[in-house]
Amino acid sequence: MTEHKPYRVLLYYKYVPIEDHEAFAKDHLKFCKDLGLKGRILVAHEGINGTVSGTWEQTQEYMDTLKSDPRFKDIVFKIDEADGHAFKKMFVRPRNEIVSLKLNDDLDPNQITGKHLPPKEFLKYLQQDDVVVIDARNDYETQIGHFRNAIIPDVKAFRDLPKWIRENLSDAKDKKVLTYCTGGIRCEKFTGFLIKEGFKDVNQLEGGIVEYGKDPEVQGRLYDGKCYVFDERISVPVNRTDEDVVISHCHHCGKEVDRLVNCANPECNRQYVCCPECEEKYHRSCSDECREHPRNRFELERKQAVQHN
Ligand SMILES: [Zn+2]
Ligand SMILES: [Zn+2]
Repeated sequence: MTEHKPYRVLLYYKYVPIEDHEAFAKDHLKFCKDLGLKGRILVAHEGINGTVSGTWEQTQEYMDTLKSDPRFKDIVFKIDEADGHAFKKMFVRPRNEIVSLKLNDDLDPNQITGKHLPPKEFLKYLQQDDVVVIDARNDYETQIGHFRNAIIPDVKAFRDLPKWIRENLSDAKDKKVLTYCTGGIRCEKFTGFLIKEGFKDVNQLEGGIVEYGKDPEVQGRLYDGKCYVFDERISVPVNRTDEDVVISHCHHCGKEVDRLVNCANPECNRQYVCCPECEEKYHRSCSDECREHPRNRFELERKQAVQHN
């Protein structure tokens, strides 16, 4: 019998019309707080996108309640066990969109989206020649892990992807295209954009990297490194075979490591790869300028930690 951890982290989204999303957000925040959950949820007219943590019972009640609402009856929860909360606070924020691609005419994934491929099928196509695999995430996410041979677009943020695709991949419209992101939500819109652009065979990884890593048959094969997640865990493992490799290097010393930290300069706050030794040595700062910044948090946090002990 396997021992379960006491907490769970949920990741989920659903593109479905939500009328008066601001009122919904307000009520939903109260509901989450009363339950004792922590996390971050975005609510827009086009749907909901969230990640929350709580005990086994709290997360169960959350899932049951959400599914009892006809709008969310078929929502898919990606579930990870955890030792404690993965967030410090609970936010539910109303937004114009749950995912932004900076397009003038917004895309409704319920109308237009790429074919969903379960992990096993995705892996099959990954191994074929002449497929184009596109990573649909932000640059700081891709630095610690991505699919082998994937195209990593040279963009800072997901919303800059359409421009990059038009400039760099317009000659690939007749090829089989595979896209992936963390949990699948961004691909729902991104593949719709690709279809509208004239790409003919557009496919997306169902459930994203997170589910791909959990598939008992696939075991995360051909994914190198770790998967960045938007909570205090920062990353989760994906590849469970012996082909697992580290693809990132410490920004300071070059040592192989897949550990991300936030630069201690509050005005920089960049997430970068850093080994534990260099974190001490360079005061968790990505540059000399950041280390010498008058409000650098490293020393400050150190003092607070001492006071608490
Ligand atoms: Zn280092
Ligand atoms: Zn910095």
